[in-house]
Amino acid sequence: MIYLDNAATTRAFDSAVTAANEAMRDGYFNPNATYESGVKAREKIDAARKTIANAVGAMPDELVFTSCATESNNWVFACGKKYKKGNIVITAGEHASVYEPAMRLKSRGDDVRIAPLTENGNVDENALLRLVDEETALVSMIHVSNETGVENDIKRLTEAIRTRAPRACVHSDGVQGLLKTGRSLHDLGVDFYSASAHKLGAPKGIGLLYIRRGVNLAPFLAGGGQERGLRSGTQNTPNIAAFAAAVDEFGKVNDCAQVAALRAELCEYFGSHGCKALGNTSNSGYIACIYVPDVKAEILQNVAHDRGVAIGKGAACSGSKRGNRVLSAMGLKQIETECCIRLSLFADTKRDDALEAAHIIIDAARRLGSKHVG
Ligand code: PLP
Repeated sequence: MIYLDNAATTRAFDSAVTAANEAMRDGYFNPNATYESGVKAREKIDAARKTIANAVGAMPDELVFTSCATESNNWVFACGKKYKKGNIVITAGEHASVYEPAMRLKSRGDDVRIAPLTENGNVDENALLRLVDEETALVSMIHVSNETGVENDIKRLTEAIRTRAPRACVHSDGVQGLLKTGRSLHDLGVDFYSASAHKLGAPKGIGLLYIRRGVNLAPFLAGGGQERGLRSGTQNTPNIAAFAAAVDEFGKVNDCAQVAALRAELCEYFGSHGCKALGNTSNSGYIACIYVPDVKAEILQNVAHDRGVAIGKGAACSGSKRGNRVLSAMGLKQIETECCIRLSLFADTKRDDALEAAHIIIDAARRLGSKHVG
């Protein structure tokens, strides 16, 4: 199988599997117990937190482990605005795990403002800043789009937001951006940043929320007071160990420029066969969103899978909803959004495999009757 659906999830690195296995087999003790084995389990968590913090450019005490990025995003919306009055600003490019919590607040009477996207898929920066005012309590901007791979300039936007709305909290959903843009979390300057381990070669079921030092966030899950009282629940030691191992491995094998060059090559190939790559400006390099005329992405996805190629389509995480909110916000007609496939690369994607997959997809599109793919 040629796997090009890495934005949805990645295969765990062997080193991550080994780390998880060891933690389950030998280090299974309660990391909050005071006896020696528990203390050792706790030390593993501390070491993992340090490894991840070093890699992402944060302090260990700024990282709180959660079960996934969906939880991290929901936490920010449930608690980040809780004690502050004021409006909320998000972008039209948000993943459902930000968009839906924001809509829930809106349905409860909050003033939720949505900044439009450009045709390229970035947030329209001027329009976003016009929505931000002194009453803004929370701004949430996706770092790298899960649909197109386009990167928003979070550092520049955060600085501009702070001058307009000094008391606002700034959050970024960094699931597709962590370790893939060359930017450290401190450099971005945000208050909160969400990330997910299974996009980086670790198992599912572990994520994190970065909370900048000095910023208060009420706990989302109350209970035994783990994670410095911020996120109760016995820590997932196997997955935390695997997360750190994956981050370590990713750092060794990943080459952002090489991945971006492969994306560019793929986009050119599709372009020369009657398709169109979206979001080519300021793209992080890991995601290629390709419009394939006349062919429904879902059908192409299944045919490609039968021929040994796994790809994504728009809104891969959101199941059965028709159309695609984000691609529509970029100006595509609904019928066009339904013909967009997503090829997402990872640190270990091989060039030959990716090009072979592209060839298979074009051939399948032709056989499925596209009049424009040639
Ligand atoms: N945010 C973005 C941008 C994503 O791409 C995803 C998953 O694809 C999520 C959030 C949700 O991540 P998780 O599966 O860890 O909840």
